[in-house]
Order: sequence, then structure tokens, then C-alpha cells
Amino acid sequence: MLNNFNLPNMDKLKTIIEQFVDLLMPELTPYETSLYIFFLRSSFLKDETSLRIGKRTISEKLGQGIMGDKISYKQISKMLKGLEEKGCVKVGDTNRDGTLYTVILPDAIPLVAEKLAIVLDAEEEDYFTKPEKRKELYERDKWVCHYCGEKVTEENATLDHLTPQCKGGKHTKENLKTSCLVCNSIKSGKTYEEAAPFLLKSIQERKARSH
Ligand SMILES: [Zn+2]
Repeated sequence: MLNNFNLPNMDKLKTIIEQFVDLLMPELTPYETSLYIFFLRSSFLKDETSLRIGKRTISEKLGQGIMGDKISYKQISKMLKGLEEKGCVKVGDTNRDGTLYTVILPDAIPLVAEKLAIVLDAEEEDYFTKPEKRKELYERDKWVCHYCGEKVTEENATLDHLTPQCKGGKHTKENLKTSCLVCNSIKSGKTYEEAAPFLLKSIQERKARSH
């Protein structure tokens, strides 16, 4: 069975396990965790997205497999309600073969998705306020002003926000460009489109003066 997994599937499985252990498990009770794993085992690992099962079967399977003892219907109802409320399982219709449960994979569970978004935000590292990070960007840009193309030095090197801070631009390395002091003071608070005519005029004046 495991031999049928190709690499992308293994990667997906790794991600699911990581997100499950790191982000979802802390939100679940041990009972809910067991039931969620059981649902994953009975659907996702069989290439199905949902399963139809009765509480009696859940009680038997969980009892044999994970929990050791037989579990009461009342406990199972509580676990199911918990998983449903936390967005881990969608409960569908019930017929005589049982109830239809759709397992939601960790990254689609709101509790987990929220945490993933926070992790992503934290990765947007601040390259603006820390001197050593600023220097990294000057090096990246080879100490040349992004706008006028002139060399900059420690004295007149600045970092310009491509999307200005007043328009929501962040201190990320993607949004920061090495700029000389003159160009930056012209570009300040404007988008490139807004600043372009002023920048060009200033660059031409500076070129004319240096000749
Ligand atoms: Zn410049």
C-alpha cells in the first residue's frame, strides 16, 4: 500500500502530519484527536474524502484500535460535536448505514488556517529598522540607487519603499530598494508612477550640473 505513494503524495502527507501535530492537536481534546485520526485513517488514507459509518462501528473500532476500551455513544457524540464545532469534520446525512462524515484536512480547518497565516506574517521579516538588515539590501543592490543609477555610500544610502508606507507598503525586502538620499526624498510617500516625472526632472538636472 505504502509503495503506491509517489513523491508529491508523500510531501502532502508530511505537511498534513506536521500541521496536524503542530497546529491542530493543541486545539483538540485527546478523544477528539483519536477520532480525527480514525476518520483520516478511514477516508483520506483510502483515497476517499468522506466515509459513512455508524456510532456503533466507531465505538468498536476506536475501542479496539486506539482507546483500549469500548467507548459509550454519549462520549462519541461529544467527540463528534467537538470536531464539528472546530471545523474538522463535516457531518452529512444519516441513513441506515450510518452518518456521512467528511474529514477536513488541517490546512482547510479555520483554527489551523489562522495559525498558518500568522506564521506567514512572521516570515515577512523587517529589513528596514535593523542596520544589519539594511546593509544586506544595499549589498543586494550593489550600492547603486534604484532610480538614478548613481553609486551610493554609507552616508547617503537610504531604503525606499516601492509601495509607500502610507499606502500600506511593508518593510519587506521585496518592497525596499536602495535609493540615494535625493531620489528618496522625491519619491517619498509616492508610488513610482506618481514620482516618475519629478524623479526624471531631478535626475536630468543633476546630470546637467555634473557636466
Ligand atoms: Zn538616486
